Amino acid sequence: CGIVGYIGNRKAYPILIEGLRRLEYRGYDSAGIALLADNELEVYKQVGKVADLEVVVPDTEHRQTLGVAHTRWATHGEATTDNAHPHYSFSKDIAVVHNGIIENYMMIKRRLLDAGYKFRSETDTEVIVNLIESERKQGKVSLELAVNKALQQVHGAYALAVLSKSEPEKMIVARKGSPLAIGLGVENKEFFVASDAIPIVEYTQDLIYLNDNEVAVLERGKKVEVKDIYGKVKNYKIKHIDLDMNMVT
Ligand code: GLU
Repeated sequence: CGIVGYIGNRKAYPILIEGLRRLEYRGYDSAGIALLADNELEVYKQVGKVADLEVVVPDTEHRQTLGVAHTRWATHGEATTDNAHPHYSFSKDIAVVHNGIIENYMMIKRRLLDAGYKFRSETDTEVIVNLIESERKQGKVSLELAVNKALQQVHGAYALAVLSKSEPEKMIVARKGSPLAIGLGVENKEFFVASDAIPIVEYTQDLIYLNDNEVAVLERGKKVEVKDIYGKVKNYKIKHIDLDMNMVT
């Protein structure tokens, strides 16, 4: 299973699809992609291989420069198209891809159902995205703060990438227990995200590997910020990977 993300000034779609292919070796049962531009969130998913996903994506020019993609290894809910990622929130404002398991998802799901949220899948992941939306609406807070508040409540393992129509200049990524790497493009103009370096090294050899309980905000034109889930700023190391995939520094 795996995650790929892109934010920058190139078209996201080809980078994401190629990235998913490079993560195929990790194994998966379904795949999906979300693209965001002009207040429009497009989501495509399919059971099967990346090639099967490509069949359901319309054959048009995908101009979006922000997107996330996922290969799923089902843990909660069968391998169906509805359960495939990306998942999006009840109001379709926020989209999430997730690798890992949210152990206390049932408890949170019950609370959200009582609050009127409806669910389209059986996954633990859809609970995270609605929890983020609920935190954001209740507290009228930023996406970043809503992600933090949600992550303070979930138990389990995750590598996550989050997008929102309301804050289309950024992608938020987080990690606990499941790997996540961030590739730094030139002058902070673009960022690549993936479960490992393989989908990224073609574009940049400068990577940040998130540690557990870290959240990073990737915003076009801005320096990456890494914080813990309580908002405390963390130092990070940029690792330089040479093309033979040996770590140099
Ligand atoms: N637990 C999530 C699901 O079943 C994510 C699985 C994965 O890591 O791919 O949808």
